[in-house]
Amino acid sequence: MASPHIENLLIIQDRDQVVRGLKDQLQAIPLVIQKHEAEIQAETDALEESKSKLQTLEVQRKNLDIQVGSAEEQINKYKNQQLQVKKNEEFQALTHEIEVLKKKISDMEEEEIGLLLDIDEEMVVFKKREGVFDQDVAKIRESISTLEAKNAETEKQLVEAEANFEASKGQVKDTIFNRYYRLTEGIKLPVVAPLELQTCQGCHLRVSNDTLEQARKGEELTTCDNCGRIVYLAS
Ligand SMILES: [Zn+2]
Repeated sequence: MASPHIENLLIIQDRDQVVRGLKDQLQAIPLVIQKHEAEIQAETDALEESKSKLQTLEVQRKNLDIQVGSAEEQINKYKNQQLQVKKNEEFQALTHEIEVLKKKISDMEEEEIGLLLDIDEEMVVFKKREGVFDQDVAKIRESISTLEAKNAETEKQLVEAEANFEASKGQVKDTIFNRYYRLTEGIKLPVVAPLELQTCQGCHLRVSNDTLEQARKGEELTTCDNCGRIVYLAS
């Protein structure tokens, strides 16, 4: 027969387990929420990055346009000057300047083609990100609010579970409860474990014959020789 305290200790342990489980959940939920918030931030950043890349490319393209425009203007000026110069060397010098500018324009136009390709490519990335952004973020926000509701519900459950645990404490003497409590500080639940085939179901090691005998008598609380848990013989 098990010690008369065992039954009450098992109830205490059950309720303690519920409290601990709820506390674990309350620690875990905010971390998952944080992770989801980081996901939203990452999607927002990626979209922003793509947008600002596009803007930078557009600015580069416009600058090139301006430079091509002023080079063309300069060529026209040189051509007008050519109409006015008298000496052949001066005319040749201007022709040379015009050739240099024409080469420059052709280089810039080539560069612009490259930029246009980059813009097209980045536009595809941007549109793709923009296309899924709202839906993705809405989905994540939905998960967050589900988790927040679960958190609130768990907090309520914890209040109730703690009250149940407190109530069950009163069912045993303080000395017995303190013995239970000290065990929980050192080892994982269960700290009150049955003996099966002379084996402690807490540490799964075999107990001595004396311990088994003491548990069988059930006159006092028996502890496992190996792990120190309170052990009992299940009837
Ligand atoms: Zn043990």
